[in-house]
Amino acid sequence: MAAGDLPAADTRGRPLRDLRISVTDRCQFRCTYCMPRDIFGRDFAFLPRQDLLTFEELTRLGRVFAGLGVRKLRLTGGEPLLRRDLERLVAMLAGIDGVEDIALTTNGALLAGKARLLADAGLRRVTVSLDSLDDAVFMALNDAAFPVAGVLDAIAAAAGAGLPVKVNMVVKRGCNDQSVLPMAEHFRGSGHVLRLIEFMDVGTTNGWRLDDVVAAAEIIALIGGRWPLELLAPSYPGAVLPRLSRARLSAEGSLYTCLFAGAGHDLRGPLRGGASDEALRAQVASVWTRRADRYSELRSLATRPEQKVEMSHIGG
Ligand code: SAM
Repeated sequence: MAAGDLPAADTRGRPLRDLRISVTDRCQFRCTYCMPRDIFGRDFAFLPRQDLLTFEELTRLGRVFAGLGVRKLRLTGGEPLLRRDLERLVAMLAGIDGVEDIALTTNGALLAGKARLLADAGLRRVTVSLDSLDDAVFMALNDAAFPVAGVLDAIAAAAGAGLPVKVNMVVKRGCNDQSVLPMAEHFRGSGHVLRLIEFMDVGTTNGWRLDDVVAAAEIIALIGGRWPLELLAPSYPGAVLPRLSRARLSAEGSLYTCLFAGAGHDLRGPLRGGASDEALRAQVASVWTRRADRYSELRSLATRPEQKVEMSHIGG
């Protein structure tokens, strides 16, 4: 094994295992907690096409990351299914030595017609976002007049194609907190895992206020008041400490080692400037091995011990 193939670990010994790849910054939804229309409106300057990494560039980087220990890739965005022929990228990534798992996070709007193609290409699992079963509530949140039925169809199509499904629900006080119990009721026993996510502060653009947050403990109490809850062991070690072994690649090819990091490390420049695989690998390894930030860790594990409630089983 060449030295560059040794798995990278950061200064705290955390190995690089998961890579989250944003394939576009665009989305057809304008979820008020994520891409509110008053900021991401008609005049918003999304990335020009040539600034996005091509499928070939993403695959080359995927190979570099796999050489450093990454085993799981998650495609996200923006809305990843807005990238035409995404299944072609999935097939290319699935062919990389060492990549064991490819997942997709999507709003579901374009998933029903693509689920089979994606599964055939090598996609292993899908997370679909859905914030309510009530059309009025859901449409007020997605601000794109997209109905609940479209997302439920997408979930059914994904399951029909053999893909395990998780459902992400962001809970925002006064918007969809009334939807928590109906969602729990609907997905209880469905075989799909419902994940209830606290409304997070993702920068200066989504109007985050602490008053809008329904804390995980409150969500647990709400559901626990209706059905008996059982605490389950995490399905794999990374599941409890998700941010610690994860890196993020933005649509224009910047590497972030922390959800809240302001500045990324540009990989597109070297990639397009003729850097060898070895040079790219050395760059990624040096970013990761120098990573000493405990900011996201402290923020998620100490100040806010839980940000996500994953509901795979509700007893009773
Ligand atoms: N467009 C895709 C989707 O809708 O799933 C992928 C990108 S989206 C940013 C990924 C996930 O982040 C979604 O489940 C979304 O609900 C969640 N999200 C976005 N903004 C959030 C916020 N402020 N707090 C918590 N979760 C958020």
